[in-house]
Amino acid sequence: MGDAMDRCDPCSGELAPGKTTLEIWRGDQLVVIRDVPADVCLQCNEAYISPNVSERLDHFLVECHQHQPEQYLSVPQYSAAQAMDEP
Ligand SMILES: [Zn+2]
Repeated sequence: MGDAMDRCDPCSGELAPGKTTLEIWRGDQLVVIRDVPADVCLQCNEAYISPNVSERLDHFLVECHQHQPEQYLSVPQYSAAQAMDEP
């Protein structure tokens, strides 16, 4: 591998080792994975995940239904029509 990025693509900010939370749609189901190791931009918070981590997450997502989730989140959903409808 190697070839690690040391600068943020959009803003050229400096990257530092950190963690991020991923929200991944699988069909009509939203899956959240927290504390994913990533290089995080110190300026804009953009997170970069290594190919190795990404691959392991891909494997996990295939069989994630076999694992008991930490918790279930309930999130509000709105339509763009609602969001953009002036009162
Ligand atoms: Zn950035």
